[in-house]
Amino acid sequence: MALKVLFVSSEVAPFRKTGGLADVAGSLPKALRRMGIDVRVVMPLYQGMRWHDLERLDGVLGVPMWWGTARGGVRLGRLPGSDVPIYFLEYNRYFDRPHVYGPPGDAYPDNLERFTYLSRGALELCKALGFFPDIVHANDWQTALVPVYLDTVEWFQRLHAAATVFTIHNMAYQGVFDPGALFITGLGREHFNSREFEHFGDVNLMKAAVRRATLLSTVSPTYAGEIQTTEHGFGLDGELAGRGSDLHGILNGIDEEWDPERDPYIAAPFSAEATAGKVKCKAALQRELGLPVRPDLPLLGAIGRLTPQKGYDVLAAALDRILAWDVQLVLLGTGDPELEREFAAAAARRGDRLRCRVGFDNGLAHRIEAGSDFFVMPSRFEPCGLNQMYSLRYGTLPIVRATGGLIDTVSDYDEATGGGTGFVFQDLNPDSLANTIGWAVSTYFDRPTHLRAMRKRAMQRDFSWGSAAAEYGRLYVAAIERRLGRPSPVQLPEVLDLPGEWPRVVDGRGS
Ligand code: ADP
Repeated sequence: MALKVLFVSSEVAPFRKTGGLADVAGSLPKALRRMGIDVRVVMPLYQGMRWHDLERLDGVLGVPMWWGTARGGVRLGRLPGSDVPIYFLEYNRYFDRPHVYGPPGDAYPDNLERFTYLSRGALELCKALGFFPDIVHANDWQTALVPVYLDTVEWFQRLHAAATVFTIHNMAYQGVFDPGALFITGLGREHFNSREFEHFGDVNLMKAAVRRATLLSTVSPTYAGEIQTTEHGFGLDGELAGRGSDLHGILNGIDEEWDPERDPYIAAPFSAEATAGKVKCKAALQRELGLPVRPDLPLLGAIGRLTPQKGYDVLAAALDRILAWDVQLVLLGTGDPELEREFAAAAARRGDRLRCRVGFDNGLAHRIEAGSDFFVMPSRFEPCGLNQMYSLRYGTLPIVRATGGLIDTVSDYDEATGGGTGFVFQDLNPDSLANTIGWAVSTYFDRPTHLRAMRKRAMQRDFSWGSAAAEYGRLYVAAIERRLGRPSPVQLPEVLDLPGEWPRVVDGRGS
């Protein structure tokens, strides 16, 4: 009997993406499917999606909301390159909007209601389809209500048997609302207490999921430890430490879309063995962005949301020092309007060395990864980080701050031996960043053999989803056993045969 998993996410690549959550939701289910797991994905149907390519399912989906039953549609598609079904919940009043969560730097005022619809709707969909999963895998605050509903509104119903895994992709967004808003979830005020939703006087959806989910995970081993500390826990560190033995750090993989040998977005393919294509990609990127085509200069790339998390304010403060060297820097990002302006102004001043593209452009992101020599990622915190993994894959050596998943993926350059796959710094300030970039630049000019060896080493690292998916498989089986209080009736030989310790405790907690 195949293990059945419902995977619920507010964003799934390539259908809609604002960040790494979408990449995970678009790739992990495919890898799970390859392991023989019957996994199905649910997300909202947002504005601008190619809905006419999706199959419209018959009937309406009734979703209980605080104001009555919302009657929505369901469309069915497949994750590209796979037969994994993805169901799109269609309810225009909530999702036919230009943004996923709200305009840049802002949130829609009815986000609680919108994502209540997603969470409750996902469970109603299971019932409508007759699909009763062994595991419901929820992600981040937008689907944090799912584990709560299974133990409340689904109490004593068939779905209640499902175990839940709640994955934290970012602690900075917890779904915090006024206490008076709890009624929007359809749950009574008796749930506003410190063992469920109440956290420092507010409603906190992530807290409720952390308390309620059968098992928890986050997207890198280092971040799993960090979020149990006051520095990175954003107020939920105590809650997470309380469930520390149930919290697992599983490093994300990267999608096959990011493969320099088969990337349709880039000027020429290349690999660890055949690197000539990378030289062409660099020239093509310089041409595309109107920079002088200079193969001899180190080209630095940066891509990401312009939010405090990513540390681009520190990069902005270090720009004058960095651009005093013979380098080129390209930045692709969107977010904080002030930072956007700051980078645009710097690009206007130093047009010979700096290019700044404001916006979200997947193709250009690929071309920057392929064409750059170094990738700058000065994150304040980083749950996993995907861009540094793409960079390694594309032989673009990451320059990163030692935090979260960056620690787990990038090994620091050793000038004595030439070892390492990138350049790592500890303290987040303009001087440390500029010094480390300077170290990378001097390595480029003065120690090219080290650089070539690092590039090859980086490209040979395996970041495929296979091993991460196997870890999730083991987590699922452990969650089922925890939920049922007995050995799991569904087994995954490939998963269980893997070496390594895994919690097999059966104590019935969580049900
Ligand atoms: P986060 O999830 O915190 O945003 P990650 O590094 O985990 O950071 O993932 C970010 C993903 O979003 C990567 O795939 C990255 O390439 C992509 N991305 C971020 N900003 C942009 C942008 N402006 N244009 C294109 N892709 C972007």
